[in-house]
Amino acid sequence: MGVGQPLGDNIITTSLDGLVNWARKSSIWPMTFGLACCAIEMMATGASHNDLDRFGIIFRASPRQSDCIIIAGTVTKKMLPVIKTVYEQMPEPKWVVAMGACACSGGIFDTYSVVQGIDEALPVDVYIPGCPPRPEALLYGLMKLQDKIMKEKNSFGATLGFGERFEPAA
Ligand code: SF4
Repeated sequence: MGVGQPLGDNIITTSLDGLVNWARKSSIWPMTFGLACCAIEMMATGASHNDLDRFGIIFRASPRQSDCIIIAGTVTKKMLPVIKTVYEQMPEPKWVVAMGACACSGGIFDTYSVVQGIDEALPVDVYIPGCPPRPEALLYGLMKLQDKIMKEKNSFGATLGFGERFEPAA
């Protein structure tokens, strides 16, 4: 370390977006919320063998502490208002993962009582196919969500009221 180099190599530069997005993608906190069989795979993903905690992904028991909701299971028309209420209670920014064929498209349940895809009601960021998707598929989907978060622009500025938040396509 010399006079001309007071910080030596101990300096990095980044943008505010880069820093905020990195913090957000490293601390995705999904709602503890399951609807049907896919939720069992979601629980397995959070358990010790797959260990979501190592990605900073920690399930929360309150929508007010959650920034992600994984729609894991069949969405019935009776349950849809509850899902919407939970989603609306989550603070911005927030993300939605449709896990499994039922959440993506109604799956095998083409019936009067089942919503034919949660994207009829919520803005889905990542779709994960399968019936059910294995934990590896959910992990991959969540990593895709992390990639998407890293590409966001002005998410911090928009929080302060400067301009719009730009969310890239998945
Ligand atoms: S996609 Fe398959 S495993 Fe998942 S909730 Fe629907 S029926 Fe169950």
